[in-house]
Amino acid sequence: MQVSSELASQTMGKYIISRVLDKKGRTKWMDNYNVHDLSVEAWGVGVWIKQAGIISYKDLADLLKEEAEMKAWQLPVEKVARGYLVKSFQCSDRYFITFTKQTGWQCGCMRYRCWRNRMQEELPQLLNQFNGKVFCHHIVAAYKSL
Ligand SMILES: [Zn+2]
Repeated sequence: MQVSSELASQTMGKYIISRVLDKKGRTKWMDNYNVHDLSVEAWGVGVWIKQAGIISYKDLADLLKEEAEMKAWQLPVEKVARGYLVKSFQCSDRYFITFTKQTGWQCGCMRYRCWRNRMQEELPQLLNQFNGKVFCHHIVAAYKSL
């Protein structure tokens, strides 16, 4: 599978993968390696980690959902005329979130656009675990404010 570095860094970066392994109680690799050593590849059946074996796309998706929930927690949300403004986690930027029946939830942030533009083609297995719906923590925050 060919996953661009942009999408890979946001969905299966070394820290993300190490947290999935940790959550599943798979810590044996830590005896000999640290997180920087991890070598990660997207395979059809799951994400392969040279130092620790395969994790499923479901386990990866669960962690990414949890992380979005955690980052969304306490993000300020402002209802505006045609959507929501959600403050960024790291900086003072605010992102415009919209929802329509036709398009579903959409956000203007880089992460959302990267996932939307690339995931269907590059990591369809992961998108399936999200029921085909791309999201970001801004969207989670807006949704929770309803
Ligand atoms: Zn966003």
